[in-house]
Amino acid sequence: MNDLSSIALLVTYQCNIECKHCGLSCSPREKEWMTMDEMKDIAVQASDLGVISIVLTGGEPTLIKHEELCNYFRFIKDKTSISNIRIVTNGHWAKSYEKAYSVLKEWKDAGLDELNVSCGEFHQEFVPIENIGHAYKAGCDLGFITVLLAGEFTKSKRENKLTPYDFEKILGCRIMQHHEVSPFITKKYAMTCNNAVSYGRGYKYIKLEDIPLTKYDNLPNTCKDTISTLSLHPDGNATICCGVGARDVPFLSIGNWREEKLQKISVRANDDLFANLIKFYGLRALKEKLMKTHPEFGLTHKLNYTGLCELCFEIFSNEKALNYLNTSGLELEEELISQKIMYLSTIYSSKYVYQ
Ligand code: SF4
Ligand code: SF4
Repeated sequence: MNDLSSIALLVTYQCNIECKHCGLSCSPREKEWMTMDEMKDIAVQASDLGVISIVLTGGEPTLIKHEELCNYFRFIKDKTSISNIRIVTNGHWAKSYEKAYSVLKEWKDAGLDELNVSCGEFHQEFVPIENIGHAYKAGCDLGFITVLLAGEFTKSKRENKLTPYDFEKILGCRIMQHHEVSPFITKKYAMTCNNAVSYGRGYKYIKLEDIPLTKYDNLPNTCKDTISTLSLHPDGNATICCGVGARDVPFLSIGNWREEKLQKISVRANDDLFANLIKFYGLRALKEKLMKTHPEFGLTHKLNYTGLCELCFEIFSNEKALNYLNTSGLELEEELISQKIMYLSTIYSSKYVYQ
């Protein structure tokens, strides 16, 4: 069974700004891009695989010329069966409400369904907060699913920087956690409130003690995005999840989309032991198992995390654990299979109940 439902196209690592926390270390100096022909080919391949959602992100995808972007949205709607197109942007273009409305109206007419605007504390150093208000209001007025990605706020709120809670008061949007925002989201006006990340450029600039941490016991066990979302990067890398941190963490890599068809990569992701452990067995379960059965790996109990990705990096950056999983990981297979069956039966029974 192919579980792939969403493709994230990181069309470039180039960005007009250079946020301190950026998980992919994007900047104006990055040069690598997907070509428009490549982006069209991926959309067709993805559609043939039954993918329902395509996300344009980066870097900053709106650095693509406006007309070309509109043509791409039209191409997806006309030539593929992908039903949801989302763009993730920092909102630099929304200089006034009128400007935001006219840009978004053309994107909407061309086929865009969902607008995500990144506007966390570190974005606010570069993009005026007024732009976020313009993009949000125009997005809502035009009936887009509009999501403000207002995460990565630190404990020492920097002067004049707005937190997700300020956005909630000012714009009246509901705070949602990162994991609630899925390709199937139907709510119109939402906002995520995920914490600062501790990979990419953030490692250099953000002090751990400045990040609001989550208790280990409150972390989810599994990462549902894995396998169902593949991220395709401008350097050819394909990764098993949303791909943030992928430039630093090789274990997320599952192939090269320039050298292979998406179908082959997707089959490999479906069968990949690490991806299956992350999605079905669970990261907390895996860490606890490894600590119990192999104390010599040196994994120790830690009370707080910046998020689930940190736990993921902790396990898969441990060389001894990685060697063990690469050579003897199938010892976990029996437990993994029963977890997978349980997960799939929950999905099918909930589909049955809610249909
Ligand atoms: S976080 Fe987003 S807006 Fe900021 S530099 Fe990275 S890609 Fe650009
Ligand atoms: S938990 Fe792991 S698999 Fe999931 S998004 Fe984070 S890094 Fe990717």
